[in-house]
Amino acid sequence: MCPTRRYSGSDMDIRETICPLCGNPSPGGEVCGQCRAEKTLWLECPPRVSAVICPTCGARKEAGGWCDLHIERDELARQLITRTIRLHPDLRDISLAITLDDISVNRSRAECRVCGTLFGVRVEGSCGIEVEWKREQCDRCCRISGSYYEGVVQVRATGRRPSAREVEETTRIACAVESSMMESGERLSFISRLEEHRDGIDITVGSQRLGSEIAAAITRELGGRFTTHPKLVGEKAGRQVFRITYSLRLPRYSRGDIILVSGRHMEVLGVEGRQLRCLDHVSGLVRSVPERQVERRAGHKGDAAAWMVAFRDGDLLGVLDPRTGITREVKLPQGREISPGTTVRIMEDGDRLVLLE
Ligand SMILES: [Zn+2]
Ligand SMILES: [Zn+2]
Repeated sequence: MCPTRRYSGSDMDIRETICPLCGNPSPGGEVCGQCRAEKTLWLECPPRVSAVICPTCGARKEAGGWCDLHIERDELARQLITRTIRLHPDLRDISLAITLDDISVNRSRAECRVCGTLFGVRVEGSCGIEVEWKREQCDRCCRISGSYYEGVVQVRATGRRPSAREVEETTRIACAVESSMMESGERLSFISRLEEHRDGIDITVGSQRLGSEIAAAITRELGGRFTTHPKLVGEKAGRQVFRITYSLRLPRYSRGDIILVSGRHMEVLGVEGRQLRCLDHVSGLVRSVPERQVERRAGHKGDAAAWMVAFRDGDLLGVLDPRTGITREVKLPQGREISPGTTVRIMEDGDRLVLLE
């Protein structure tokens, strides 16, 4: 840097090995790394960065869109700063230290220290950035608060109303589908309402994809079928807007039901169309029964209670009614070994006792 150390043009040997700016040794006589680094703007910081967060659900606005990846406030500030600080492309071995201070709910102050190597010279710099925290309601919360919806899954049952158990299962399945779609990034696939009716349950959904996924999941797990009924509700930006009703019918009989077929009690294991896959508890055999052969539904295996076996007499078991303490008799199913002192699951169908597995 000292101009007095410059050498005259006639002394070629020396000029070739020193920096023309500072006179320090430099191979080939080029401007040395130190001088280049000093003349280079290698660190540029914007005065402020801003983060937009939905106050209702915590979603974050990024590049014009909303996303649900929740990050701690400090971590988010660090990420934003790291992304906005501009460093020279030749800077190597970079280390960045950020200290954050919250000034108010809406503002934080970040002090950034950056170290690195530029043209072989160690450089160090610092800057201050203000982080602005903005609140804005996200697209999903806007839709929810505006009662926006794209479809309704109407769950009903054939020839009866869905049982409390089915309503509970339906709700569980719908919520599971919703959270798995949300997790996969479909943030507008929300359930806006779950409403129980006299005839069943209505699930109001924010996206048609969620509606059809829920309807498919319910019929896959509980049987039955659904049909879709679109209805034109208007036009938006030149596109027709439809709402879809997914009309779902649970089967007349469902898994776990105990039904009466030709005087025998059977447990429904599954429903495929109009065929029921049933377990005959007396014979221990599984068979397929056409729905029309079912005399009636006798109950559900979930209604069974634990009864104590008091004695065994041949193929008869004496079992103790847990409510009255009275001993009653039930036939021992073929091939089953049940000894006194153990408990069995028994469902009552009127006066008849049904011994379950
Ligand atoms: Zn130099
Ligand atoms: Zn939100």
